[in-house]
Order: sequence, then C-alpha cells, then structure tokens
Amino acid sequence: HHSLPSARVDSVQAAIDARDDHARLPPALYLEGYRASGGYRLLERCRNREMSAQQVMDELERAGLRGLGGAGFPAARKWQTVRQQPSPRYLVINADEGEPGTCKDRHYLESDPHRMLEGALIAAWVIDAERCYLYLRDEYPAIRLLLQQEISALEQAELIAPGYIELRRGAGAYICGEESALIESLEGKRGFPRQRPPFVAERGLFNRPTLVNNVETLYRVREILEHGGQWFSDLGRRGQQGLLSFSVSGRVQSPGVKQAPAGITLNELVEEHCGGMLPGHRLLAYLPGGASGGILPARLADLPLGFGTLQAHGCFIGSAAVLVLSDQDDLRALVCNLAHFFREESCGQCSPCRLGTDRLLRLVAQSRWDSALIEELGELMLDSSICGLGQAACNPALSLIRYFPELLATQGGAQ
Ligand code: SF4
Repeated sequence: HHSLPSARVDSVQAAIDARDDHARLPPALYLEGYRASGGYRLLERCRNREMSAQQVMDELERAGLRGLGGAGFPAARKWQTVRQQPSPRYLVINADEGEPGTCKDRHYLESDPHRMLEGALIAAWVIDAERCYLYLRDEYPAIRLLLQQEISALEQAELIAPGYIELRRGAGAYICGEESALIESLEGKRGFPRQRPPFVAERGLFNRPTLVNNVETLYRVREILEHGGQWFSDLGRRGQQGLLSFSVSGRVQSPGVKQAPAGITLNELVEEHCGGMLPGHRLLAYLPGGASGGILPARLADLPLGFGTLQAHGCFIGSAAVLVLSDQDDLRALVCNLAHFFREESCGQCSPCRLGTDRLLRLVAQSRWDSALIEELGELMLDSSICGLGQAACNPALSLIRYFPELLATQGGAQ
C-alpha cells in the first residue's frame, strides 16, 4: 500500500474548509448545490410514495442497467432478489475501485458524489435497508474527506438518520473489490472470497441479505428515473443498452474517463473520444477489460464493446478499463507484468490460484513459451479457483497464444 503524503491530505482539507474555494469547485460537490439542481427530489418522491419500488425496478430493467463494477449482472434483478429476502437487509456500496486501469468511480465520486449517494439511498429505500456501508478505496483520501463531509451534511439536513451510511476504509487489497471478500473485510475479517452458494443477496453482511452495488451503477439511477429507462437503453449502439464509462489509457492522444455508448467499437472510441492514436503509433492490440479481460488484436477493433459481445473471442468488458497498445509496446512484457500483479494479489485461500499464479508467472517469463502447458493451467484454474481472480488470471497469456503466436517462440518479454 502506498502511504499517503499527509501534506496532500492537509491541503485537500484546507481546500474543503475554505469556503472561498467553493466558488471554484463544481457546486454539485456540495449538498446545497446538488439540491439546487433538483437533487434528492426523486428520493423524496420515493419516500412520499409518489413512486413505488416496483416502478423504480421496472425503469432500471427497461434501461438494461447492469452492475458496472465488472460482473454486469442486471441491477433490477439483484434489487428484486434482495428485496424478497427477510429483513434486516443491508446495502453495501462498493467504492473499492482497484481494477488496473479503472478510474471511473473516482471521477464520479470527486465530481458529483451526491448523485451516487442519491442512487444509493433510492436502492436502500427499495430494499428497505437497515443500514448502508460505503467501502472506499483508501488511495482516494480526498474523496474520503469529501464523503465524510457530505454524509454529515445529509444527516444535518435530516435526509438520513445519524449513522445510516457508514463510511469504511479499504486497506489496499485488490481482492476486497470482490463482493464477498469485501463483506468479509467489512466484518473485520481477512478479505477471503466466499464460496457460493449462498449468494450475498441471500446471506451477505453479518449473514443477512445484502445488496452490493458499484458506485457507477448507483450513479446512473437518477438519470434513468428522470429520463426513463427507454431513454437510457436507446443510448447504446448495435443492440447494447445505455452508456458505459470507459477508462482509456495507453497510446491515445487524450486518455481518461470517456462516457460512451455501450456497443461502441475500439476504433470508434479512439477516434470519437480520444483524439486518435498518438502520432507515430499504430494500433497493435487492446485490453478491453482491465487486467483479466484478455487482449484483442487490432484486426478485432471493430467488435462492439459491451456485455457478452467479446466472450467468443476469449475476452470480457469487465469494468471497461481499455488499454490501447501500439507497435511500440511489448506484449510479452505486458503479460509478465499482469501475471506478476495476479501473483501479488492472489489472496492465497485456494491452491489452484495461490500456486497457479506463481506457476503462470514462471511460465510466461520463459523465453520460449510452453503454450500447451499454459493452456492446461488456464483450464485448471478456471475450473477450480474459488473466485474470478484465479479463474481469469491466465486470460492475458491465453489471448497472446491465440492472437500473437508468432511472438512466443522467440526471445523477449521476460524481465
Ligand atoms: Fe483467493 Fe485466488 Fe482463490 Fe480467489 S481464486 S479465493 S483470489 S486464492
């Protein structure tokens, strides 16, 4: 874990304390500003029974809203499942954004935190949550201060009871972004993912039914309810529904968080949203979904990016962290780097992953790859690992075997 320079934290606090600075910061950062633009009216309409929980879920269903933390499970169905379980029920907000390359939740939290909080409180109202827990990545200290301040503003405005939203700090483990490991961590235990079933919707936090939603999923709720589910759904392209927030990095002119239609292609994303490739760089390959979503070659840059569209190509969109690679990048070095990441972040609970990630790193560091052995390892880890980390750790290596076999018989890549 990176220790946080305290000077930075102090200066953020100073900025928050200095009311003069408010003028220069977006008004939506603060409760008054957010309310002035119609914020929390939807929540009030829900609480006043001008809208039913079923209506809310119907709109989300129509919108095609999915869990945007990576798993892509339909949001309305998850809410419905938790709602049908016996009380007390809990809401957990997953703000432990840790997928390499992903920075969208940070963007939404630091530019419009109340939009996410309103979505969370509407979710909490739908499932009649006893309490909400917000699990925040500790590497976002400025956001922590902002959320602390704004959650107490909500308490003072009596929009929530004191203590209704509890802010918790992560401790830097990648695996704690996995919902059941996150719950273990909230319970004060080591962040080991749980075996399923039971699913956390049935037995989650403190063994109670729990709704876990990612920041961006909750962030979308207000606009969907204001404009209608159909409006959101129609924003997608090529049969995909709604918008995705792509965290684009790599060899493009203008990287960053890009709000774009689901179903957009990589070529379109780079041209329409990122100002094209950097001068002197030709697209070689791209990662569509962070560290574990696999690698696609340039000739497949016209595939729609969305849920379920990349499976046949051995990839997935995950949290839409797109890394654009050019002819000046070393794909084997990249795969070694990712294998190293998985070995470091494996929680060690199950042997296929604890030992498998170590074996994988040694295999991809060799100058000549034993492709058959890597494929066998990938299959074994997919079949027998407890959670997604172990199941997908071999994806980048498997993509290279599939799309760039010419790179594997020669020297190179290894540290
Ligand atoms: Fe832990 Fe890896 Fe097993 Fe997941 S697959 S539980 S990260 S050891």
